[in-house]
Amino acid sequence: MTAKVIDGKAAGAAIRQAVAARVGEFVQRTGRAPGLATVLVGEDPASAVYVRSKNRATAEAGMAGFAHNLPDTTSQAELLDLVAALNADDRVDGILVQLPLPPQIDAERVIAAIDPAKDVDGFHPINAGRLATGLESLVPCTPLGCLHLIKSELGNIAGLDAVVIGRSNIVGKPMALLLLGESATVTIAHSKTRDLPAVVRRADIVVAAVGRPEMVRGDWIKPGATVIDVGINRVPTEDGKGRLVGDVAFDEAAQVAAAVSPVPGGVGPMTIAMLMRNTLVAAHRRAGLADPEGL
Ligand code: NAD
Repeated sequence: MTAKVIDGKAAGAAIRQAVAARVGEFVQRTGRAPGLATVLVGEDPASAVYVRSKNRATAEAGMAGFAHNLPDTTSQAELLDLVAALNADDRVDGILVQLPLPPQIDAERVIAAIDPAKDVDGFHPINAGRLATGLESLVPCTPLGCLHLIKSELGNIAGLDAVVIGRSNIVGKPMALLLLGESATVTIAHSKTRDLPAVVRRADIVVAAVGRPEMVRGDWIKPGATVIDVGINRVPTEDGKGRLVGDVAFDEAAQVAAAVSPVPGGVGPMTIAMLMRNTLVAAHRRAGLADPEGL
């Protein structure tokens, strides 16, 4: 079998277009555009690239962007002051503080200081708890994007066996909760899981969020499974430039799976699309409007 390659670039572009159309409606109804504030502390090159593409997507969606670039010497108190100012700023519907933060700053305290209604990353304990208890929440962008891809492939996933590899608060745990919310039978595997290949072989749906290049081999995959690869790993190449690979050995998995998401071009573009979606949703809720339909 040769698997279908799941096109996250196209799916992400479609969501961003739908968001842009709804932004126009929001402006007509409220007289202002939804606003996203991004906060980058320091000069980590990967973080700078991510934040730039988030700011670009914000502008392309017709939303108001508020980009804050702070030096890596910023103190915790200074960052908390900025978060407080953004919480109080009515033009700002979403606040994204790019992680990781420099060592003098306690990321958990910063995340907890963000108004949960503006927490478009969905990392605040209030939003994590609301997701866990099935209440309306803002959901982390990467797992939300993965769920969108999975449902686009499979439709109703009730009763299917899903294995999520990785248990981080950013990807693995919320991913498992989203799949549970769709009535899948969910297993969370992690670094202490025994006989991981056997666990993965049971799965109709595999989500790999580990950070280990090509760890998931083709012979771990159940024939006909849907495989979503969240990992982003740079591996060395002879020309010295390096190359991005996922957590799944793509060529091997593609021989067995029904559908597999590539790296790059799979989950990555969905993450930014869902950030735009979450900002639009947060703007609607803060304006007392019903959530935009179909997003
Ligand atoms: P993390 O380091 O916080 O968590 C990794 C998880 O993998 C841990 O829960 C750990 O238990 C598990 N793990 C480690 N070694 C394992 C092993 N040998 N077997 C089974 N499980 C093992 O990472 P994260 O933030 O969840 O990110 C995971 C990957 O996803 C990274 O490559 C990251 O770059 C990528 N990522 C991509 C996006 C995107 O937009 N595409 C977003 C977030 C993270």
